[in-house]
Amino acid sequence: MRLSLDSQIEEWNKGAGIGYKGDQMDTAVRENLKGLPLDELEGRMLALGHPSFRAKQLFRWLYKERENDFSKMTDLSKSFRADLMAHFCLPTIKVIEEQKSVDGTIKFLVQLPDGEKVESVYIPSDGRYTLCVSTQVGCKMACTFCATGYQKFTRDLKSWEIVEQLMGIKVPYPVTNIVMMGMGEPFDNYDEVIKALKLFQDPMGLKVGKRHITVSTVGLNPKIQEFADANLGRLAISLHGTTDEQRSEIMPINRKYPLADLMDICRKLKFKGQGRVTFEYILFDGFNDSLEDAHRLAKWVSDFRCKINLLAYNENSFSKLKRPSEQRVLAFQNILLGHNITTTYRRSRGRDIAAACGQLKTEVANSSLRQL
Ligand code: SF4
Repeated sequence: MRLSLDSQIEEWNKGAGIGYKGDQMDTAVRENLKGLPLDELEGRMLALGHPSFRAKQLFRWLYKERENDFSKMTDLSKSFRADLMAHFCLPTIKVIEEQKSVDGTIKFLVQLPDGEKVESVYIPSDGRYTLCVSTQVGCKMACTFCATGYQKFTRDLKSWEIVEQLMGIKVPYPVTNIVMMGMGEPFDNYDEVIKALKLFQDPMGLKVGKRHITVSTVGLNPKIQEFADANLGRLAISLHGTTDEQRSEIMPINRKYPLADLMDICRKLKFKGQGRVTFEYILFDGFNDSLEDAHRLAKWVSDFRCKINLLAYNENSFSKLKRPSEQRVLAFQNILLGHNITTTYRRSRGRDIAAACGQLKTEVANSSLRQL
């Protein structure tokens, strides 16, 4: 018996998500259409015998309307929708835990189709609504101040899984800014991150301007100029130390790419337009927050255009590092300002929730273990 189109749609939708293996799923090996740029989408449509303009219609449904169900793409013909359902799928992510801070910050634990989990954080501030997204499950960089650094690296996220954190998480106000500062090192998953950045910015889809996107790296030197050349977002580099000894102690990557090499690359960086690098500097009490550190930091960056963002560490159970007093942070900032270096002090957000990167995932995993 032949099923009606609506019954077919229902059957296919029931199957969506079964047997997910990265990009493809289920026994009919329906390909995941999410994450494909428009030209690749056009190729898929042509291969199926449909005109290339269908790809534009589909792209709009996926990224403008954020529709996950082919059957609801009502301006597409029924036969085209049936073809789509027969060959392709649209997987999604699921929020499984949510923590809200009194300051409006919301931390989400998100489950990917293969059961892996990552975190995303929504941060409202002064009329801006920023979403901090993850780029990997776990991280290889093993920074000692970061909860993710203690988690096993499992896999890279696909571009669609990065973008889906914006499309699939319900937040109180539409996101205006994106930062790639969640779990994972973006430059260690460079190709998928670049694809995701292009999708975030596509004028036919999500339309987030590159000036509203920041990618944060610990400093994987070979990728830094390449990223500036791609001109797809602002560059932030996590510094957190002013000597090799200090930085290597908390960021093992510094043993591979010592400070002098990293700063040399930053000094010679060529941006398209008015770009400049931002250095993130987390202050840890009695570790990297002395006045000598402030002068040393000023010396490293004195001969090129940059900005420094200071943050005071959020103390937590996995690290012995401590938060400095407000007074110490302000004294540090004053020295940098005295050297004419643009310096901002970003007050921590979400301090009353598990806001450190990777902390919520660790807490949820621990509480599940405790229940066993
Ligand atoms: S700070 Fe970033 S790079 Fe370092 S371990 Fe955490 S997620 Fe990885």
